[in-house]
Amino acid sequence: MAPGRLRIGTVQVLTGNGKGKTTSALGCGLRAAGRGLNVLMLQFMKGRVYGELEAVKHVPRFEILQFGRDEFVDKDNPAAEDKELARIGFKKACEAVGSGQYDMVILDEVNIAVDYGLVGLEELLDLVEGKPSHVELILTGRYAHPEIQRVADTVTEMLDIKHHFASGIEAREGIEY
Ligand code: ATP
Ligand code: MG
Repeated sequence: MAPGRLRIGTVQVLTGNGKGKTTSALGCGLRAAGRGLNVLMLQFMKGRVYGELEAVKHVPRFEILQFGRDEFVDKDNPAAEDKELARIGFKKACEAVGSGQYDMVILDEVNIAVDYGLVGLEELLDLVEGKPSHVELILTGRYAHPEIQRVADTVTEMLDIKHHFASGIEAREGIEY
């Protein structure tokens, strides 16, 4: 599949406290792959096998790579491994965006990685501003930095009106992971 199929690639931000950011980005990837676009999702701060990792094995042109441990990151004192994995993930993101190989690059939870200091705001701004025009770049995660929101083309905030965790329904395989 020839890359560069998008005439105009934009920057989308999916943020907010409500449920649906990662799954919405997966939907974007699915739609793009279905139209012959090459999609890469890089998941920051995640290391467990989510359903989407299994599913995309069956979807041509859709890859997911993870850069995190299967542990919560301590915001005040991230482990050296958390920092190193985020660094490697961000390097991969820069390579992928610049490679010409992908039409859509999704940086899942990158907004949180910036909020936790695992990815620098300036380096993310540089990536956004230097992005080739044909690449669709999607940035997910709570607390998207105002500067990132400013440079993005589309910013969507998921609003937490209610969530079933509050009524004691725990995370379910196939729904939450
Ligand atoms: P999803 O992966 O379901 O699209 P998300 O990407 O919007 O959710 P995150 O902020 O990345 O959500 O949070 C990760 C986990 O927390 C997911 O299991 C998600 O279902 C859950 N979650 C999301 N929003 C809320 C909320 N408002 N209250 C409690 N848990 C939530
Ligand atoms: Mg998410």
